[in-house]
Amino acid sequence: MSEFNLLIDGKMVPGDQTMAVLNPATEEIVAQCPRASKNQLDTAVAAAKAAFPAWAATPIEERRRLVGKMADVIEANTNELARLLTSEQGKPLADATGEVMGMAAFFRYLSSLDLPMKVIEDSGDRRVEAHRRPLGVIGAIIPWNYPLLILSFKLPSALLAGNTLVVKPAPTTPLATLKFAELVKDVLPKGVLNVITDANDLGDFMTKHPDIRKISFTGSTATGQKVMASAAATLKRITLELGGNDASIVLDDVDPKKVAPGIFEGAFQNSGQVCLAIKRLYVHESVYDEICNELVAIAKNTVVDDGSKQGTKLGPLQNKMQYEKVKGFLEDARKNGNIIAGGSAMDRPGYFIEPTLVRDIKEGSKLVDEEQFGPVLPIIKFSDNDDVIRRANATNYGLGASVWSSDVARAHKVASQIEAGTVWINKHLDMAPHIPFGGAKQSGIGTEFAEEGLAEFTQLQIINEART
Ligand code: NAD
Repeated sequence: MSEFNLLIDGKMVPGDQTMAVLNPATEEIVAQCPRASKNQLDTAVAAAKAAFPAWAATPIEERRRLVGKMADVIEANTNELARLLTSEQGKPLADATGEVMGMAAFFRYLSSLDLPMKVIEDSGDRRVEAHRRPLGVIGAIIPWNYPLLILSFKLPSALLAGNTLVVKPAPTTPLATLKFAELVKDVLPKGVLNVITDANDLGDFMTKHPDIRKISFTGSTATGQKVMASAAATLKRITLELGGNDASIVLDDVDPKKVAPGIFEGAFQNSGQVCLAIKRLYVHESVYDEICNELVAIAKNTVVDDGSKQGTKLGPLQNKMQYEKVKGFLEDARKNGNIIAGGSAMDRPGYFIEPTLVRDIKEGSKLVDEEQFGPVLPIIKFSDNDDVIRRANATNYGLGASVWSSDVARAHKVASQIEAGTVWINKHLDMAPHIPFGGAKQSGIGTEFAEEGLAEFTQLQIINEART
């Protein structure tokens, strides 16, 4: 048996095929990984379906205990999971460690939640109760930017609610997920959790599958549209967390030195490969030059290197396709703006791109209008608050946004007019398991995290009893 295996029906099994997983910092093979066949997907779904009745009937206290136990297992194996994550995803080891700890925190928090029955009416006429029932088999589809953290947005909620699961990580980042599956396999009854992998060829079968009741999907808007279309045939429940083109608006009253580090972090964390990263920075003309200069100073001091080396702040792009895509954005930046930091792919093995800042650029350029999902930030000048709100909203996306100001009341007024699921004030990228998260417009459907996210893994059932 190889080092990595699929988890199907409580057993670690080889894939019917294999595929190589590369380290994006070196382009060398990290490991040969199992690749599931359509047959193995069907076996995993059948195992999850068979495990469902007993798991759904397990008291929620016990399900909570097991979700908590999974948090213990994650914590006890933080270093191994983090090292694996860095080797396949590319992010610095400190960030990978933070991701694993964040994953454990999500499991821990979910293990404290409940799904109590609510009495809607208890009168002489009737007693009406609202129950939250599990849905059945859930299909969880995960992207490559935060393989473990995004798994933790779905898995503990789905299990706590009494569902069983088939998880599919992205083809370029399956290893940490398979290791996690191996570590927790004995915590759960067989078949409750199944993890398969693919080469971008099984997602569609999952969304069409007659025995999967819900798809919880995180990925691009283009794939999300396919998921929605394909799920229509079986009227599956769907939660879609999709792409974004987050605007960050810097008002005229900020202290540039104070806000620049938070803006830089919000744009460049994980080398810009964050659904909620700042992707368009709008700066008032009165502070435009100063903000640009502060950001340039930070960019020049940012160490870009192999994530396994100590001191690395930004790693490579995760895969070749994304690397080529971001190089296209650099070309656009050269044509339509002035590059004031970075601007090139690095001349070394791996998918490295310098953190790039582009000023004097406007809407109508690809870098402003599309989601770059990489370390290239357009900085756009504005002079009027109403005008910048209109420009920030002139997109089909609506995931996140931020407003920076020394006057919080002014910032709130702007924030309330932005069409986005989350708007931060004087920060960007602050998330926690008890704060609901979801996208507006084409950035998604539904909510994850917190009690609202948990409820999306259930069917509301009303029991209405006659009293006369
Ligand atoms: P992607 O859409 O290409 O892939 C995501 C997942 O979908 C992968 O597991 C992939 O194998 C699978 N998939 C591919 N084709 C499918 C199909 N036809 N049906 C079902 N599944 C299919 O996205 P990506 O390139 O891996 O991730 C980057 C994108 O994800 C960005 O647009 C980013 O903004 C978005 N994202 C969103 C969030 C969020 O929470 N909103 C979080 C992270 C990433």
